[in-house]
Amino acid sequence: MRLLQVCSEFFPLLKTGGLADVCGALPSALSARGCDTRVLMPAFPALRAGLADAQPVNTAFALPEGARLLRGTLPDRSTAYLVDAPMYQRPGNPYTGADGQSHADSHVRFAVLGRVASQLAEGLDPSWLPQVVHAHDWHAALAPAYLRAACARHHRRLAGSVFTIHNLAYQGVFPMSVRAALDLPAEYFGIGGLEFYGQVSFMKAGLVFADRITTVSPTYAREIQGAEQGCGLDGVLRERAHDLAGILNGVDPAVWNPAADPAIAQAYDARDLRGKAICRARLQTEFGLAPQREAPLFGVVSRLAEQKGMHLMLGGLEDMLSAGAQLVVLGSGDEALQAALREAAEAQPERVALHLGYDEALAHRIVAGCDVILVPSRFEPCGLTQLYGLRYGSLPLVRRVGGLADSVVDCTLENLDDRSATGIVFDRFDVDDYARAVRRACALYNRPASRAEGDRCSCRCSGRPVHAATWR
Ligand code: ADP
Repeated sequence: MRLLQVCSEFFPLLKTGGLADVCGALPSALSARGCDTRVLMPAFPALRAGLADAQPVNTAFALPEGARLLRGTLPDRSTAYLVDAPMYQRPGNPYTGADGQSHADSHVRFAVLGRVASQLAEGLDPSWLPQVVHAHDWHAALAPAYLRAACARHHRRLAGSVFTIHNLAYQGVFPMSVRAALDLPAEYFGIGGLEFYGQVSFMKAGLVFADRITTVSPTYAREIQGAEQGCGLDGVLRERAHDLAGILNGVDPAVWNPAADPAIAQAYDARDLRGKAICRARLQTEFGLAPQREAPLFGVVSRLAEQKGMHLMLGGLEDMLSAGAQLVVLGSGDEALQAALREAAEAQPERVALHLGYDEALAHRIVAGCDVILVPSRFEPCGLTQLYGLRYGSLPLVRRVGGLADSVVDCTLENLDDRSATGIVFDRFDVDDYARAVRRACALYNRPASRAEGDRCSCRCSGRPVHAATWR
């Protein structure tokens, strides 16, 4: 099958979150299953710089906004098309300028991406025609709409379409005045199309016009069909329930593997965790934390946002520290959260460590060096950090929501007994329930039975169980 993946981020070239990890891993994973996958993205500077052998595609098609299409090879050796136009060359991340504000022509930047995806299905590159167009998140969500319009113009089906929701909370909503610039049939702007409370929603275009919809975990697929997590689109999703599937994200073993991770102090795997103890000690040294082994070292690698439950983490800090535990945080985002974390780290530098910013290698060192990785999210479509924790023998402490609920099994006594437990799970999004989970993690760490028997709390590391006993 020839599949065109349409997206705005791609690890390791350009990443703001889990979207890049998944989009960066899928082409090789699908190729290994015999799928001829190519990727279409805007020619953002980091992507353009990482594209080898870039050549303009010779075509009779006129691309929108005077853009041209480049074809080249990505680091994973998959073939990519980049839509090259001056509007993609600005400093900042894919979505905002260097000042953190979104661009006034944001709708054009991502409409063009969708439009070119459809043109590829119409034959823009005479040497390669996709059979399926797979669009990721709102940035690519107009692709199924343009494709539907193209099929109508050509009076035939050009390609199938799949739309994947990585986070329904980010929707690409614009005023109705952008309508003319999108150049879609007038009837597409009604309530059964892009219209969303008087505005235009790119996300809704993906949900309405794609043949199939997927999202990144089975629980999130159910949650978004309800008002609480539907972000105003739960009705549309309920209507498309038969075409909606939740497929849990995975881990790219070429990037996240403690047995072969160049970013960590010492390689290890489930058969021999001595390397993990070294990673833990190095992490303490790196951050100037006291070299204690009596209580767990908690880690956070996260966007600092309300979604991620960071204020729960701050609210439960007292409980954590009074149990003798330590905390390492890597993150960036909300100013108030950054200030509160800075204050906590300055008040107790031997117990609380903080690195504000984005640092891929440090993320690996924290996931490898901590005992417990915290993901106490309010909502979480899938979450990758807890999956990395499972792989690195760092027990995830998570809220029972979205993909976290699908990927972590709580260490209740019965789950410890039948060896199905893989972490610590709490239910309510409040400080009390979270802090109780932290105390449970500390108790588990020091549980004599776990240490003596060494076979109680299992989590997946290199595909083999890791035991609570081997934490220390
Ligand atoms: P989201 O995409 O909602 O931010 P995910 O858990 O799906 O959350 O993916 C987050 C990804 O971003 C993971 O690969 C995580 O390691 C990484 N990450 C988050 N914050 C940072 C940071 N400050 N530095 C390095 N990597 C980070």
